[in-house]
Amino acid sequence: MGDTMRTVWCDYCDTHTDYVDSEEIYGKSYGMIYLCRSCGAYVGVHRGTDIPLGRLANAELRDWKKMAHANFDPVWTHGRFKGRRSDAYKWLADQMGLPEEETHIGMFNVKQCQQLIMIMDFERDKNYGKY
Ligand SMILES: [Zn+2]
Repeated sequence: MGDTMRTVWCDYCDTHTDYVDSEEIYGKSYGMIYLCRSCGAYVGVHRGTDIPLGRLANAELRDWKKMAHANFDPVWTHGRFKGRRSDAYKWLADQMGLPEEETHIGMFNVKQCQQLIMIMDFERDKNYGKY
């Protein structure tokens, strides 16, 4: 167990998490994580801190986030916001009706991931299948 004064709760179980090395999940250390022992949900921390990157994600939410990234990232890696990641996120915040500081896939719940995927479907449709 790691050393933290912080109490991070699991939204799924309404229980507190353990602060452990990610080696416990991946078999290789990528830094510390908050892990829920009852459901296996976890979240990483900002580099050099014990501040969680967002809320804990279980396997279902992690899959949705992966899909959200796969749908959204091309719009700023090679689409019309090419190289302008922050402009792409500003646009997304506007589309989702969220404040910019809450528009990060890492902070999204399942519903928001689904909303993003729908927005990107419309966006591709509008642009003839291109980003
Ligand atoms: Zn849990």
